[in-house]
Amino acid sequence: MSGALPDPAAEPGWDYDRLAELAGRHATPFHVLDTARLDRAARDVLGALGELSRPATAYYSVKTNYLPHLTRRLARHGMGADVVSGYELEAALAAGFEPERIVFNGPVKTEEELALALRHGVRVNIDGEHEIEVLDRLAAEAGQGTVEVGIRISPGVPVSTSTDPSYRLQAELAARRNRFGWPAGSPQLARLVRGIAESPHLRLTAVHAHLSSQIVHQELMLRALEPVLGEAAELHRRFGLREVNIGGGFGVPGIRRPRTGPLSALWGLHGSAPAADEEPSLDTAQLLADVDKRMQDLGLDGVALACEPGRWLVSDAMAIVTRVMSSKELPEARWLIVDAGNNVAPWTGSGEVHRLVPIGRAFAPDRSTWSVAGPLCYENDIHGQAVDLPEDVRTGDLVCLHDTGAYSLGRSNNFIRTRAAVVAVDGEQEQLVWRAETGQDVFRLADPDPDPLPPGGNPGPAE
Ligand SMILES: *Cc1c(COP(=O)(O)O)cnc(C)c1O
Repeated sequence: MSGALPDPAAEPGWDYDRLAELAGRHATPFHVLDTARLDRAARDVLGALGELSRPATAYYSVKTNYLPHLTRRLARHGMGADVVSGYELEAALAAGFEPERIVFNGPVKTEEELALALRHGVRVNIDGEHEIEVLDRLAAEAGQGTVEVGIRISPGVPVSTSTDPSYRLQAELAARRNRFGWPAGSPQLARLVRGIAESPHLRLTAVHAHLSSQIVHQELMLRALEPVLGEAAELHRRFGLREVNIGGGFGVPGIRRPRTGPLSALWGLHGSAPAADEEPSLDTAQLLADVDKRMQDLGLDGVALACEPGRWLVSDAMAIVTRVMSSKELPEARWLIVDAGNNVAPWTGSGEVHRLVPIGRAFAPDRSTWSVAGPLCYENDIHGQAVDLPEDVRTGDLVCLHDTGAYSLGRSNNFIRTRAAVVAVDGEQEQLVWRAETGQDVFRLADPDPDPLPPGGNPGPAE
């Protein structure tokens, strides 16, 4: 599997004895949420925003992890919310986020969803032409005067690098063809802005961007934001903006993404895979300070700065405790099969690498190269093909999968196995905050009274 493992020497700082003890009370696999880690991340980002020269807000990206125990806690920290669907909007309101501190993003918003947002005074960042017409009409019907909206702008340049030129070409093409927002400086964006300006019930007061996820290149992120900030400065002169929202995407150190293209795949086939790129790490506080400064230079005085952290807030606040269910010695591979599969850890098979740490007993100092898979009878359920683990890991052992707070619970599913429980630990306290799914849960949406087969349907074995 490409991409270097997160540095095993970097201590993730979890109490593994405690996690092993939880495994005595909860069936594996299960997620653990450490609320102290979540609180620390929330305070860090809010602290960094508080240092800036302008009013600044964080909207937590609810899609990153919608666990109510977690969203309620972030709302209590005074954070806002970024939602990208109607049901997320309802969940954010239920979690206690102030409606005026919720933004509604995303490439599709139905009329019902837009009406819900308007009813609650939730600001919409426009990302589809039809939204202008629908919002203007709904605002007119509601008789609420003008409604403030934002518009999503894309920079058109990639935010990741690689020593593999084929990856870089792919990334550049993908950035230019990005379907979220409209490119800064493009005639299409100008047309959309005109459309909003000509809508009697709408007023453009915000610019929104969100570049991608797990961005680790600070300089590149700043450079990619430049066209967005430039466009924002222009729009500010014309309309008087209230907010520039740079979105999320702030990368975390515990995850490695493969940044390789077809060329690396070819090299790999020849047995000479190129060295994995060094992954820098993103200093979010510094990045926010740099954006603040750049906004100053561009004349965006008095305009608030907002961001939408998702992964950065929740990634290392959760881990998955899984058990080795089977090991298999083959002529060319040594497999460990754990009970956390793609249905609870949906990045398996994508090459994204998370730290795996065997826990619950003392392990031999000698290391070995293992292939690690999940339990699903499905080709891509692979955590890694060359994972460095102790030589003596065996069936029955527990393994802690790190940095699982982002895009695991909400993206988990019941393909082959059911979804896992979440246990929250808060100091000495422990609470089951999401129960494990059962087979009955899976089928509760089905027709409860299926028609019986007509008699004589199966002729039985031939005589
Ligand atoms: C997903 C998303 C985020 C959060 O992204 P992270 O990479 O988890 O920080 C923020 N804003 C928008 C609009 C998103 O779609």
